[in-house]
Amino acid sequence: MTTVGILGGGQLGAMLAPALQDLGADVHVFDPDPNAPALRRAARAVSGSWRDVPRLQAFFDACDVVTYEFENVESEGLARLEGLGKLCPSLDVLRTTQNRVLEKEFLRAHGLPHVAFVDGRTAAGLSAAAFEFGFPSILKTARGGYDGKGQWKLASVAELDALLATPARAVLDASGWVLEEPIDIVLEASAIVARERNGDEVVFPLFENEHRDHILDVTLVPARLTDDLEAEAKSVALAAARALGVTGLLTTELFVGRSARSRPGEVRVFTNEFAPRPHNSGHVTRKACTFSQFEALARILTGVPLVPPRLVSAGAFCMANLLGEVWEAQGAPASLDLSAWEGSPDLLEVVLYGKKDVAAKRKMGHLTVRAAGPEEAIAAARAAREAIQRSGPPRSV
Ligand code: ADP
Ligand code: MG
Repeated sequence: MTTVGILGGGQLGAMLAPALQDLGADVHVFDPDPNAPALRRAARAVSGSWRDVPRLQAFFDACDVVTYEFENVESEGLARLEGLGKLCPSLDVLRTTQNRVLEKEFLRAHGLPHVAFVDGRTAAGLSAAAFEFGFPSILKTARGGYDGKGQWKLASVAELDALLATPARAVLDASGWVLEEPIDIVLEASAIVARERNGDEVVFPLFENEHRDHILDVTLVPARLTDDLEAEAKSVALAAARALGVTGLLTTELFVGRSARSRPGEVRVFTNEFAPRPHNSGHVTRKACTFSQFEALARILTGVPLVPPRLVSAGAFCMANLLGEVWEAQGAPASLDLSAWEGSPDLLEVVLYGKKDVAAKRKMGHLTVRAAGPEEAIAAARAAREAIQRSGPPRSV
């Protein structure tokens, strides 16, 4: 039996664990938060700090292979461990993808299409670089950002100066920064590549993503892209996975849109960022594809060969996130009232992650629907979400 360790105990780990167990693996989970949902799915749950090297070492020693579902794991602690060959994707992949400066420099070095940028490792040169780069621009911290946290849209030098007079300066100084061009986005997409230890790889159908307040709102598959743009997006994602040498999953977030700097007017693909792990947009694969992103990673980690994933049927599939707002007033439900949807063949799943604390913008669960076409699928997913919200807490628990 293979023992697989997962660093991070959020919903990604909670959905990965059963996929691993279905392949006969024993699952161990490590997370600093003793309430993290995936800890409850594990044969062995370890709660400790990312800096607790002895505890991390013991966790590694008990596993045959270790992956991570959270890319802000502090790599400094991991770097001190023995047996790092067990980590998939590797520590190098984690380091590159958790730091926007390294990530952007990787894109540039490998000639992958990216958003125009300048970067720096301390706040010292930021003002001068921004002045030269021009405005409007988007400033991002190199580390620790997610769901739009750690980024600012800047219209002028005055706005940058105002920002640098706040505590954000210390964060930018400690973390490094990237300043990039705002893209006139036609649509956002993501591509998940699953790559085996021997280099065999498959790519999932492309996902189309709509964000609200910088947080993923809905994911649609198939994406509404021309064949040319879809082929380009897939080839960028595959090239990136190869160049990084990923064993596991690599999610590539892409912008499809126009740049004012290079070839104005032309709609192109730009790589935004990577996640070397299952991705929120990939939840749609649970119902839309012949196997899910979680099953793909589970196969790689347990040495079961992959076949190319396909959509299970014609039509369109849409995943909608259930954020804390849905239940904030009442608290998280212990069970859902799905009576309005009982028997509906189009609502394929509703998943709650079992997080203890409900908070605005916190991802509490998701649902997936199927419909004849893309617009209907998006509308049906949003309608199902609203119905669940209206139904409020369960009638009896
Ligand atoms: P994170 O997902 O880590 O919060 P991202 O860099 O992916 O950070 O940015 C979050 C969202 O902000 C993107 O999905 C996109 O909607 C928007 N965004 C980020 N960078 C740009 C850009 N250069 N041009 C236009 N929109 C952007
Ligand atoms: Mg992102």
